[in-house]
Amino acid sequence: MPPFDVSEGDPFGPHNLPYGVFSPAGPAERTVGVRLGDHVLDAGAAARALGSPYAALLARPSLNPLLAAGRTAWSDVRRALTAWVTVPSHREAIAGFLHPLASVTLHLPFEVADYVDFYSSEHHARNVGQIFRPAAEDSLTPNWKHLPIGYHGRSGTVVVSGTDVVRPAGQRKAPADPAPVFGPSVRLDIEAEVGFVVGRPSPMGAPVALGDFRDHVFGLCLLNDWSARDIQAWEYVPLGPFLGKSFATSVSAWITPLDALEDARTAPPARTHPLLPYLDDGADEPGGYDLRISVAVNGHVVSEPPFSTMYWTAAQQLAQMTVNGASLRTGDLYGSGTVSGPAPKQRGSLLELTWNGRDPLELPDGKRTFLEDGDEVTLTAWAPGPAGTRVGLGEVTGRIVAA
Ligand code: MN
Repeated sequence: MPPFDVSEGDPFGPHNLPYGVFSPAGPAERTVGVRLGDHVLDAGAAARALGSPYAALLARPSLNPLLAAGRTAWSDVRRALTAWVTVPSHREAIAGFLHPLASVTLHLPFEVADYVDFYSSEHHARNVGQIFRPAAEDSLTPNWKHLPIGYHGRSGTVVVSGTDVVRPAGQRKAPADPAPVFGPSVRLDIEAEVGFVVGRPSPMGAPVALGDFRDHVFGLCLLNDWSARDIQAWEYVPLGPFLGKSFATSVSAWITPLDALEDARTAPPARTHPLLPYLDDGADEPGGYDLRISVAVNGHVVSEPPFSTMYWTAAQQLAQMTVNGASLRTGDLYGSGTVSGPAPKQRGSLLELTWNGRDPLELPDGKRTFLEDGDEVTLTAWAPGPAGTRVGLGEVTGRIVAA
């Protein structure tokens, strides 16, 4: 019998237990919550009631203390939580700390330190190359198969799922235009991605080796890297993305610990180029994750990108981020890059789905090239769990409001 009336097969059953930060109904303070089915467990209050030493990590207004505590603590806390929600003798003690999900307010679950975004889907990179550099001999840039390309983004505008996104304004200039103009973006897009959350920091001057990934990265979430393609196209040469992306990045309210995703681990695609030793994961445990993402616009599914097709793994991205001696801080967030699979219905951006506006999407409420005011985009995902179960990832949703 599943505990606490969580139905058999619920992707947020006791095998999952993602972490968030919530306020119960009424004027209440923020505290760490753990999702169980369609309820949220007040983890700190439960820890106190059960006399657990983990109350100090859980009765907090952010996940940062737990993130900073390190891998042994992550495993110990997860083991304790699993016992609290599955052992029948705890039922009475726990029941009073479960809040209906629909009754609580969810917050950004951790204090975002630095934010980096990668570009690690070969299908995405080739599509973008074909769209923007049609004359190029190779749709990939010469460095692409040798290192995971990334850029530093803006952590202060990372927002939790459900936050409205104001259409950004900026400069744009199409190649045929005589001069740039200023105004609201007319090519507002999404990027369906997975975000990785760093727990344990690292000092400057000490690169993090591939094999140390699990000591530093606590968990993952869905991430939408909102992108204004017209602003981006005019500004990005030669230093990369800037204001076309820094206006908002949305993340799930729930961080799924990597410990819940053991059954989703999978080998990344075969490497077609030899890798330098610090990125060579040929002898390592499989570094990919089998996450099945779904992208919906106004409730209509437009794409199902498979994360298992990502060429560069999160461990390689972490090694790349730190190989020059850059440090890690608790709360660092890095995005995988747009997830696109080989098939047209697996593309993770409207840029690719509509081939830069050439092939509009047919939605029940009309055609779409890029996003219109009022459009709501929702990313959902699941991963294979133990014994045929599914591990649900918290959704990330956002609605476009006029500039
Ligand atoms: Mn991106």
